[in-house]
Amino acid sequence: MFCSKCGAQNAEGSLFCNKCGAELTDPLSNDALKVQIEEARHLEVQGGTGYKLSLVALVLAIVLAVFIPDYRALFIILAVIAIIVGIWSVTLMSKYARKRADLIKKLK
Ligand SMILES: [Zn+2]
Repeated sequence: MFCSKCGAQNAEGSLFCNKCGAELTDPLSNDALKVQIEEARHLEVQGGTGYKLSLVALVLAIVLAVFIPDYRALFIILAVIAIIVGIWSVTLMSKYARKRADLIKKLK
């Protein structure tokens, strides 16, 4: 294997370059990349589902807060939780969408 830093040839399985001392890391195989891409896609879809569910919960909580004034405080708390979960889901979704795009670029 060749050092990615200085290009020197090293014995297969070496952990460090014998010339410059850089750490030698095996580039991920296409199969390993595909597994990671699939995992990222799965988490991205989960984030999307969480976002949709939180939107439904938010609308429901607002409607209930309007029509059942006795429990308004409870429904407002639920609405706030739905907003937090929604923001978190969108963050998760975009994080794994970016990760997936990065991984796809590494595919050979
Ligand atoms: Zn080197």
